[in-house]
Amino acid sequence: MQGGCAHFPLLLPSLFDQTLNMTHQFPSLSPEQKKELSDIAQRIVAPGKGILAADESTGTMGKRLEKIKVENSEENRRYFRDLLFSTDPSISNCVGGIIFFHETLYQKSDSGKLFPQVIKDKGIVVGIKVDKGTAVLNGTDGETTTQGLDGLSERCAQYKKDGCDFAKWRCVLKISDSCPTSLAIAENANVLARYASICQQNGLVPIVEPEILPDGTHDLLRCQYVTEKVLAAVYKALSDHHVYLEGTLLKPNMVTAGQSFHPQEVAMATVTALRRTVPASVPGICFLSGGQSEEEASLNLNAINQVPLNRPWKLSFSYGRALQASALAAWQGKTANKAAAQEAFCSRAKINGLASKGEYKASGSADQASMQSLFSASYIY
Ligand code: 13P
Repeated sequence: MQGGCAHFPLLLPSLFDQTLNMTHQFPSLSPEQKKELSDIAQRIVAPGKGILAADESTGTMGKRLEKIKVENSEENRRYFRDLLFSTDPSISNCVGGIIFFHETLYQKSDSGKLFPQVIKDKGIVVGIKVDKGTAVLNGTDGETTTQGLDGLSERCAQYKKDGCDFAKWRCVLKISDSCPTSLAIAENANVLARYASICQQNGLVPIVEPEILPDGTHDLLRCQYVTEKVLAAVYKALSDHHVYLEGTLLKPNMVTAGQSFHPQEVAMATVTALRRTVPASVPGICFLSGGQSEEEASLNLNAINQVPLNRPWKLSFSYGRALQASALAAWQGKTANKAAAQEAFCSRAKINGLASKGEYKASGSADQASMQSLFSASYIY
């Protein structure tokens, strides 16, 4: 609220109250609930902060561990996540939120504390993945919707009691000559809006994630066009479902030409698509990394924050692969490598914190692990 309203400085507090009390025929959130949601969202994307997505399903975590020849056991998953969560407290200068997978929410750190408490003690907000994966839309070329609405309200209420303040739900769309179809766009927009509405009723800030996969040989303009159509449909659906936008975060793909990245082009196409579709009331947009190498994801985010166009939202990160690849490579499943793995994680988090302010200057000495493409076709989370 500060700063941007020079003509009404004295009216600011009451103007903000008005956004909490807006006329609405059947209001479903009280001003207090709205304020709580808006405060949570603002904390997650405070200046220089983004999100660590550590909510890989057991199967996806298995693929990560397989690469470093580590068994996909509950203890190994716990150990690696403990390594990330119990890293130096200065991590909270660049990580505002961490997304958990159900299993992890109820695991403990070596210190004996439950993981949510470990990260809350650092001032980081706890999030939870609540979707139940994708299901094919019959009669399409393998397009999908995302499942998990049944019982969602009860699950959200329980997660709130167990310390969560935000949630994630991932929808997936793909680009080809015939995709995405209008069915896939409408279905995924609607399911995201319904999920967002249920989260807000239970005090969780919904991260709205309509991921357009980078798979394919399409050019930048085609990706930009599709991204605009998908986001426009998502915001129409959020409006139809009376979702309080100030209490949401968006997690989109960056606009890229397939899997090839030129930071300035990616940045201009991405910011242009967002400016055309995402209301200014959305506090933050936290990109997924989508198979980019760690370094590419940082350089692209940095370029996005340097585009000379008005950007009314925070533009930050919610990276999974692009925040964990170097740490996994350093760890190799060995206790002796724990400190090195934590250092690798902290270093990438700090770089992305800088990139979220457009202040990252690449040194040119990025290591092997951070340059490696993290792309896998038809990515499943
Ligand atoms: P990546 O950053 O690895 O693409 O994944 C982030 C995520 O949470 C996808 O839902």
